[in-house]
Amino acid sequence: MSALVWLRNDLRSSWHSPLDYAIEHHQQVRALYCLTPQQWQQYHLAPCKVNLIIDRLRELKTELAERNVELFVIDSGDYQHTPQAIIDFCQQHNIQSVYFNAEYEWDERVRDKQFKKLCDEQSFNVAKFHDTCIVRPELLQSKQATPYKMFTPYFRTWLDELYRQFPQPQALSVASIVSPAAEQLELASYYQQTHVAAYSASGDDIYQQLSCFIAERAPDYGLTRDFPALDSTSHISHLLAIGAISAKQCVFMLQQEYAEKLNEPTHGVHIWLKELAWRDFYRYVMFHFTHVNKNLPFQKHYRYFKWNTDQAHFKAWQNGMTGYPIVDAAMRALKATGWMHNRLRMVVASFYCKHLMLPWRWAEDYFMSQLIDGDFASNNGGWQWSASVGTDAAPYFRIFNPTAQSQKFDLNGEFIKRWVPELSSLSAKHIHQPSKYVDVYKLAYPLPIVDHASSVANTKLQFKQFIELS
Ligand code: FAD
Repeated sequence: MSALVWLRNDLRSSWHSPLDYAIEHHQQVRALYCLTPQQWQQYHLAPCKVNLIIDRLRELKTELAERNVELFVIDSGDYQHTPQAIIDFCQQHNIQSVYFNAEYEWDERVRDKQFKKLCDEQSFNVAKFHDTCIVRPELLQSKQATPYKMFTPYFRTWLDELYRQFPQPQALSVASIVSPAAEQLELASYYQQTHVAAYSASGDDIYQQLSCFIAERAPDYGLTRDFPALDSTSHISHLLAIGAISAKQCVFMLQQEYAEKLNEPTHGVHIWLKELAWRDFYRYVMFHFTHVNKNLPFQKHYRYFKWNTDQAHFKAWQNGMTGYPIVDAAMRALKATGWMHNRLRMVVASFYCKHLMLPWRWAEDYFMSQLIDGDFASNNGGWQWSASVGTDAAPYFRIFNPTAQSQKFDLNGEFIKRWVPELSSLSAKHIHQPSKYVDVYKLAYPLPIVDHASSVANTKLQFKQFIELS
């Protein structure tokens, strides 16, 4: 009997439970990926991310062929039409078993429910697997049997569960019947315009990138991770976002190399493990508190908070023209590369929410439209945290000073000079706050669009008054 592996955000050929299971239990296995351009547009998916998916599918076709699995790609338009498109595909290819990995976003869950209903009507066999997170969201709850709302207690239980059932690779096997020759994937018509060459989709390159980080940079991660001019983080978020790397594989590789260090709270590898747990945590929040999927803040009363709607400020922020060099460098880097360092994401998000007091939802969409690693859960979680409306949110009165952040994490202005060439002649002392020392008009660089002290004071007042009233 033939089986189908329905690929989603798990575009890899190993560390893939549905694929391993299908190969083990069926004579012939096919894989299917559904392009959903209408859905992608609705989610503001960045063109560079769409291109990455398409590049990855090309590579995956060859990798899967090595396991005798043929990859098909169809265009099902959007999620509403996807379940029927898969049923039609199964009927055409005489398939009666479908396997896939769970996804926890609300729209994806609705789609999967609809698919399951159609399968039940056709008496198809369907099985869902759980490779998306390192620890499944259903498995963790507080002592009061409620979902966690804070990261720290969640992380403690997460670690216990991780050690209870540490991820292990499955032996790779191949399907027994050789699949037909792979045809060329003709996908070039999607979003041709933006292609970020720096991102390789080849399986070998991806593995190399991960193993290189784990062997060389992970031990120092705790010391170096906050400095954007250094190449010190793993830079794998785009690969995790499309599932070209399995988060479970990352943990397994850490354990292989650093078993004794993994549980040392101050060691770089433990700190990196914790970042992977943040990724799980935001999926956990999305799964248990479904309103965050529906444009609502986690702390629901904040839906009534009055944000500013100044379009000129929004544009200046998007274009890296705020007059705050670290913010501008980060925003320009995002536009040019599709990626931003985590420290900078926190700095630009804090500036946006607390200095400009603009609506976090606008920025969430803008980030998605630019990021090659755009991921609903992490992006939504990051923005809600920065706006002080989410789980475990930054308290509203603790606001980043962008100049102090710049002096601390880009001391010599190396990162700023890379992206704001107007300031390249300035000294390390002057570059973080140029308008204080030089005539910025002569440099064709803007004056700060808001004053730090007064905008922060105003934001604190707005939050305080809102909390007192609600
Ligand atoms: P590393 O530092 O090497 O960390 C390893 C992995 O852990 C990352 O690849 C990522 O999968 C995960 N991770 C690290 N930090 C976080 C975090 N704070 N939250 C969740 N997961 C984390 N990450 C995304 O993958 N997609 C997004 O759309 C996204 N949007 C964000 C928006 C805002 C406002 C903020 C503050 C953070 C956002 N992040 C997002 C989290 C984080 O900035 C990136 O994951 C990280 O910068 C990716 O770089 P790296 O792969 O080198 O990470």
